[in-house]
Amino acid sequence: MAPAFRLRADLDELPAYVPGERPPAGAATFKLSSNENPYPPLPGVVAAVADAAADLNRYPDMAATGLVAALAERLGVGADRVVVGNGSVAVLETLLRAACVPGDEVVHAWRSFEAYPIAVRVAGARSVPVPLTADGRHDLDAMAEAVTPRTRAVLLCSPNNPTGPALHEAEVRAFLARVPREVLVVLDEAYVEFVRDPDVVDGLALVADHKNVVLLRTFSKAYGLAGLRVGYAVARPRLVRGLRAVSTPFGVNALAQVAARVSLRAEDALAERVEHIVAERGRVLAALAEQGWTVPDAQGNFVWLPLGRRALAFAQEAAREGVLVRGFAGDGVRVSIGDHEANDAFLAVAGAWRQQAALR
Ligand SMILES: *Cc1c(COP(=O)(O)O)cnc(C)c1O
Repeated sequence: MAPAFRLRADLDELPAYVPGERPPAGAATFKLSSNENPYPPLPGVVAAVADAAADLNRYPDMAATGLVAALAERLGVGADRVVVGNGSVAVLETLLRAACVPGDEVVHAWRSFEAYPIAVRVAGARSVPVPLTADGRHDLDAMAEAVTPRTRAVLLCSPNNPTGPALHEAEVRAFLARVPREVLVVLDEAYVEFVRDPDVVDGLALVADHKNVVLLRTFSKAYGLAGLRVGYAVARPRLVRGLRAVSTPFGVNALAQVAARVSLRAEDALAERVEHIVAERGRVLAALAEQGWTVPDAQGNFVWLPLGRRALAFAQEAAREGVLVRGFAGDGVRVSIGDHEANDAFLAVAGAWRQQAALR
C-alpha cells in the first residue's frame, strides 16, 4: 500500500543536533554542557519581560524595528544593515535558504558548530567540511582551496565552537582576497564578547569593506538570553533585504524583543559578568596546565580537552561526579565556564583523570 504522504527522502540522513545534557530533576549537578551563561538575565530584564507579558494577545513588531534601531546604534551601522531572527541559528538557516539551491556547496571548518551541517542540508545544499589544524584552528588555506564554482557560502566560526581559538584579522583578510566575491562569507561571532586575543578579526570592519561578508551574533551567550531565542546578522542592505524576504513572519517574539532591548541598556552589568567569566576561564586554563593538560587557546566561554577516543569516557566519568560536559565521540570534550564552584568541580574531575591516566 502506498504511504499516505511523502517527506523528503533525505530527512533520515540529517545529522542529529545533540543538545547538551540536562541535569536530572533534583540532582546536584553542574551543567557545563551548553555554553550557557551561569548568571540570570541582566538587571531589569525579568521585570520588563513580565510587564510585556500582559500584551501577549498582540502580535510582535514584525521587523523588530525598536530592537534593530537599538542594535544599529550600538554597532555604529545603519538600521538597513541589521536583521534579527529567532536565535542566530535561525538567521543562518534563513541565509542559507536565501542563497542556496539543491546541489550548491557550503564550506565550513570541522569540527565546528554542529548546527552547520544540519542547516546546510536542510537548505538542500551539500556541506563541505574542512578539517581543523592540530591546534583546533580553521585551516583557511585548505578552506579557500575547497571553494568551487558550486560554493555559495563559507561559514567561519570565531572563536570556534567547540575548540576555542579565534580567527585573526590578517588571515581572514588574506582568505577573503582568495574567495570569489559572489560567495557569501559568514562570520559567526557568537562568543565575540569573551575574546581577548589582540589579533582577533574585526567583523564589523570586514562587513564595511566586503560586500559578501555577513556577521552573525547572538543574545544567547554573553547576554544570557539563550531561553528567549534572539540573534542577528549584520550585512549589506541588499543582503538584509533578502534575509527579511525569506524570514518567518514575526520570527522574533515580543518578549525576546523587549529582553534584548533592555539587555542592550545594561552594558555595565554585562561587561562585569563577561570579565568575571573571562577571569574564571583564565583560572581554569592555568589549573589545567598545572595538571598537565595541553589544550587549544580558549577565547569563548568554554575550554576544549582533545581527548580523542577517550572523550566519551571522560564525559561519563564527569557526569558520575555531577559535572555535565559535552563529549564528541572520538574527538574531544567541551566544557563551559560556569561559576567558581562549578569550575572547581570540573577541575577536580580533570585532575583525577590526569592522575589515573598517569597510572594507565
Ligand atoms: C551558541 C552558538 C550560537 C547561538 O545560537 P542561537 O541560535 O543564537 O542561540 C551560534 N553559533 C555558535 C557557533 C554557537 O556556539
